[in-house]
Amino acid sequence: MAAHLSNENTSNGSSYTGTSLEDLPKSWTFTSKLPPDPKLPTPAESHKTPRDEIHPWQVKGALFTWVRPEESKDPELLAVSPAALKDLGIKEGEEKTQEFKETVAGNRLLGWDVEKGEGGYPWAQCYGGWQFGSWAGQLGDGRAISLFETTNPSSKTRYELQLKGAGLTPYSRFADGKAVLRSSIREFVVSEALNALRIPTTRALSLTLLPHEKVRRETLEPGAIVARFAQSWLRIGTFDILRARGDRDLIRTLSTYIAENVFDGWESLPARNPADDGKSDSPLGTGVGKDTIEGPTGLEENRFTRLYREIVRRNAKTVAAWQAYAFTNGVLNTDNTSIFGLSVDFGPFAFLDNFDPNYTPNHDDHMGRYSYRNQPTIIWWNLVRLGESLGELMGIGEGVDAEEFVEKGVRQEGADELVSRAEGLITRVGEEYKAVFLEEYKRLMTARLGLKVFKESDFESLFSEVLDTMESLELDFNHFFRKLSHLKVGDLETENQRKEKAGVFFHHEGVTGIGNTEESARKRIGDWLEKWASRVYEDWGPDGDDAARQADMKKVNPKFIPRSWILDELIKRVEKGGEREILDRVMNMALHPFEEHWGGDEKEEERFCGDVPKPERAMQCSCSS
Ligand code: AMP
Ligand code: MG
Repeated sequence: MAAHLSNENTSNGSSYTGTSLEDLPKSWTFTSKLPPDPKLPTPAESHKTPRDEIHPWQVKGALFTWVRPEESKDPELLAVSPAALKDLGIKEGEEKTQEFKETVAGNRLLGWDVEKGEGGYPWAQCYGGWQFGSWAGQLGDGRAISLFETTNPSSKTRYELQLKGAGLTPYSRFADGKAVLRSSIREFVVSEALNALRIPTTRALSLTLLPHEKVRRETLEPGAIVARFAQSWLRIGTFDILRARGDRDLIRTLSTYIAENVFDGWESLPARNPADDGKSDSPLGTGVGKDTIEGPTGLEENRFTRLYREIVRRNAKTVAAWQAYAFTNGVLNTDNTSIFGLSVDFGPFAFLDNFDPNYTPNHDDHMGRYSYRNQPTIIWWNLVRLGESLGELMGIGEGVDAEEFVEKGVRQEGADELVSRAEGLITRVGEEYKAVFLEEYKRLMTARLGLKVFKESDFESLFSEVLDTMESLELDFNHFFRKLSHLKVGDLETENQRKEKAGVFFHHEGVTGIGNTEESARKRIGDWLEKWASRVYEDWGPDGDDAARQADMKKVNPKFIPRSWILDELIKRVEKGGEREILDRVMNMALHPFEEHWGGDEKEEERFCGDVPKPERAMQCSCSS
């Protein structure tokens, strides 16, 4: 690994220096609290099953199957994320050891005592999903296998470490359990890039090439494994499969597990707090309250409603961040929508280049179901599926723990009322989703524009207007904000000055977009800059405090974004060109996106941060990964 990689930009800035993989504190909470696949009821049972007897089957009454990774020959560790090492509490240099390389390649089980046949064991999760609006049945970790959970002693954050591309599981359906190098490079980089942009996401520790693995997609491609980690890998799809099978007991068990073992306990969940009425940022308030609270419309919020609200609020914030940074996931099926509110499962994702709200990165998504502009709506669609899974538990209100209800469910005569109460609650939480989304979006956009406070008039006159301008003039979204960060308000006093500065936002080839001329483009941007500058003066005082404002803006407006064209070049150079160091250089830029320079190859850095080559803008890719 290159020596210039530094660790300072991690979410946990403590002085804890970490430990070896072997000595990491490990746990298997998920598997100890939730029921295993009855076909392989114990780790020992699974361990004695030959690996080639693992093939797809339906898993009922369970949330996971004990299954170990396939062994891989001569794995080559291509890169690690130093920030990930630090956040997991793994010491620097550990990645050079054989133990590390074998573990992240799936060749070594930590925690399992082979001699005694006991200890913690790897597992694959069971889930289902709504894909492109249709019910897809059982999905599950078809190629991901979790090794263990580990809690960083310094940050106290618990993560589940998982290998993607580690071989067949009962959830592999018709596929091979493998991942190709191409999509693994993409996931490795984008996970860490999103985290550095402060967008909630699953993370990536390492990227390993499997040199003997030739994986069939459209062509034969090299296989790879990404070691990835997250506070939780649970998805809306986990609930979907239980609901589809009518497994109401397991829905309750899973909900309880999430409240108590993924979040910080039932008490930590939001509750309507009457004292907050009229003051809070959401129609329901965010305060912590009693177990069941009478809402303003007579709908009781029991603890399961509060759990639902927590999941909804998290997702609202994450989508707001996607919109504010123009990230598109590309495949927002319910199996790719996280209970923890993380960006998860990176297939044909992309950051927008030019601002085009209709852009969708997946060239098979002809209807644009998962386009940039649809993301907030589609995540709510997914959250309604979750509301339906939790509907019975929410709709029963304070009777949720009554013995008869727990054992048999609601009586026929109470069903209509329960359904209408559940619907009422989901609708109300939908209002909260909108409110939380908007609040977060405004907060992020206000910061990106270098303003201190959001004013109601900013939405129309600054946000909407700048987006319309970018769309019409085909300007690059993320470059716009970085370039804006460099402007001094004193240079925007006269119309001529503003028109001159407007040119910094143009592409190399000049003004494009239907009906635009250079003059009209300069005028339009200049008019917006005038409004922007007057808001800057309002917030920063009569001189606009350029230096302080510019510094603040650069902390939220990245210079580097892993665009599709950069990832494509990276893939070519690693896969076809045999390059390796480029991975460390790009990862270093992704981990420190707000820097001006990275101390690597300066020409390359500037090229990666510069104008996107015209033919490579708004690229699309296929789902096959
Ligand atoms: P994705 O589109 O990556 O979110 O995957 C949807 C479902 O298909 C998940 O259950 C995956 O585990 C499964 N899947 C995707 N690719 C493969 C593969 N190559 N082998 C086994 N399962 C896969
Ligand atoms: Mg998925």
